[in-house]
Amino acid sequence: MVERFKRSRSLRKVKVKVPGGSTVVHYRRRKPKGAKCGNCSATLKGIPRERPIKMTKMAKTKKRPERPYGGNLCSRCMRSLIVERVRSQ
Ligand SMILES: [Zn+2]
Repeated sequence: MVERFKRSRSLRKVKVKVPGGSTVVHYRRRKPKGAKCGNCSATLKGIPRERPIKMTKMAKTKKRPERPYGGNLCSRCMRSLIVERVRSQ
């Protein structure tokens, strides 16, 4: 029987082949949920699902799409917001 905290489903099991040739089970932390749109709460595309420590090491251009409101709004909400702003002027 493995240690008590490893029996929890909060850790995921990964089968890893070790240099000796055998396959062992490693326990890793799960990935966080995907980023959501601030307006319609749809899951944002182009944003990696990684743990915060890995996100800090990642380049800024790999963390969100390079457009206005990239990483905050989905493309549809961004378009409608810009159209709304132009029409209200
Ligand atoms: Zn949206």
